[in-house]
Amino acid sequence: MSSSATSTPSSRPVVFVTGAAGGGIGTCTAVRFAEAGYDVVATDIKPLEGVKKSVEDIGSRCLALPLDVTKSDSVKEGVRKALEHFGKIDCLVNNAAASLGSGLHDCSEELWDASIQLTLKSVFLLSKEVLPSMMERKTGVIINIASVNGQSGIGEEAYSAAKAGVINLTQNIAVRYGPQGIRAVCIAPGTIETHLWKERLAKNPKTLENLKKYYPLGRIGQGRDVANAAYFLASPEASWITGTTLNVDGGLMAGSSQLQKDLMGE
Ligand code: NAD
Repeated sequence: MSSSATSTPSSRPVVFVTGAAGGGIGTCTAVRFAEAGYDVVATDIKPLEGVKKSVEDIGSRCLALPLDVTKSDSVKEGVRKALEHFGKIDCLVNNAAASLGSGLHDCSEELWDASIQLTLKSVFLLSKEVLPSMMERKTGVIINIASVNGQSGIGEEAYSAAKAGVINLTQNIAVRYGPQGIRAVCIAPGTIETHLWKERLAKNPKTLENLKKYYPLGRIGQGRDVANAAYFLASPEASWITGTTLNVDGGLMAGSSQLQKDLMGE
């Protein structure tokens, strides 16, 4: 929809976050941008009262919208309502995703398709819908939350392949729309302590504790670590950064502490 058909643009910057209700990276991102003076469009398939209250308690406006990132009608309606309400979207954070599968040999065709749809197609649907209003204003930033899974063979093949696709899609958006003043960047988080780990922690409560040894900085990440990076990448200080992936991973992808120790016979 054309932004010229909307209400007067908000005087504050506006961020649109998917998957904002889960208490994880999306919620932290909505709160971090609100702290920086943004109005927030918070979307999710889960109830959004909690994130809406957190954003409004900070003093920002929050439009909470039920939105399923896998459904084009839902995406179109959500973006339309956001533009109608705030008049513009300065930053889109494509955050909603989940790891649905496991190893390749026992991943059903249905699970594969569902993974690609939730983690990769969603970025296509949201970006396609938001881009015209950014092109009209000749400004905008798209931040895609990828994963270190998209950069190496860590497992969860369908999810990882989809995240690799997100990284490439980001590069293509950056190149195609850069001349129109639009930036696109990826963040690739390492292990972040969120509800995404609930099932694995139920199986083995030490899962996150066991992972610490792979991280040069010796700790698992928090949603806030990713939210801080997203805020920086959206800011004018990052105005010459586009088409790239920022790893927010405590050094995981820089190399292996364990391998270094083993190589030294320690
Ligand atoms: P989370 O489960 O806390 O948040 C994901 C949110 O997405 C949830 O609120 C969920 O309701 C929402 N969601 C799921 N399906 C949806 C749909 N169809 N439509 C709309 N919303 C939907 O998980 P998180 O860890 O905060 O994950 C956020 C992002 O970070 C994801 O893209 C994930 O792949 C990525 N990531 C997470 C980690 C980690 O270790 N937690 C690591 C790397 C990347």
